[in-house]
Amino acid sequence: MMDLTEKKSVHALLARHGFHFSKKFGQNFLIDDSVCPRIAEEGNACAGYGVLEIGPGIGTLTQQLALRAEKVAAVEIDTRLLPILQETVGKFENLHVIQGDILEYDIPALLEQEFSGLRCAVCANLPYYITTPILMHLLESGAAIDTITVMVQKEVAEKLTAKVGTRESGAITVAVNYYGTADILFPVLRDSFLPPPNVDSAVIQIQVKQRYADITKNPSHFFAMVKNGFSQRRKTLVNALSATMGYEKQMLISILEEMELPESVRMEKLTMEQLISLSNALSERAVV
Ligand code: SAM
Repeated sequence: MMDLTEKKSVHALLARHGFHFSKKFGQNFLIDDSVCPRIAEEGNACAGYGVLEIGPGIGTLTQQLALRAEKVAAVEIDTRLLPILQETVGKFENLHVIQGDILEYDIPALLEQEFSGLRCAVCANLPYYITTPILMHLLESGAAIDTITVMVQKEVAEKLTAKVGTRESGAITVAVNYYGTADILFPVLRDSFLPPPNVDSAVIQIQVKQRYADITKNPSHFFAMVKNGFSQRRKTLVNALSATMGYEKQMLISILEEMELPESVRMEKLTMEQLISLSNALSERAVV
């Protein structure tokens, strides 16, 4: 198996294929030999599991996934990487490399087609320019995924794993908590990549489990309310939601009173349960 963590041989491989990194696709390839085995091991790449990888690049993480998982499907957008992947991981019989944009796939259908009868996990070193859209695409799809184990920018990792109801949280924190629980597994320094990005990174894991679906009356209202409330997070919740969603201030204040919350409260102070109660109450009343 080709060693894809050895800088010299990676440079030679890329030169042989006339490949140049594309900023547009967020290409920073892992060259640290300790990181990929750890993502694979902690990310459920094991017997009985089908693992979806997003953006295999030159196949560094793909190798470690294919060595351990029952089956791997790797979706790569950049057609220039296909001949390289053929050379580096083409021999794995349990691997299917698919050319395409992950955001355009119907995830439950893709998993059914690739991993019928297996449990599913997602592992990836994500392209940072679309971290949030990819995570939301996976989570909102409702696909039966057990865990999502991904490398993201350190600041994003901190936001994703913040506690809802604290200053560090944001709309994405609430969204991730709606669909599961997120934890940081380990930090990764910028020197672990070729070329090194301008930021440090961390591997996070989302354990997917629906905890709030049963008590949320109108999920699309809930997500719209959270997005709008956090888009003006310096304002009080009353001012933010009246400005962005057109609710009457008095109605918002009376709902907050019923919830025993002060009218000066900001959205970032509310717990998951309080956010859901607020959305339930608002979606039952007339929108102005
Ligand atoms: N997994 C490799 C590694 O760890 O070395 C590469 C990771 S690199 C940060 C991100 C990869 O995602 C690149 O190969 C890039 O071409 C690919 N990519 C970018 N946007 C994508 C998209 N929308 N769908 C699928 N792959 C994408």
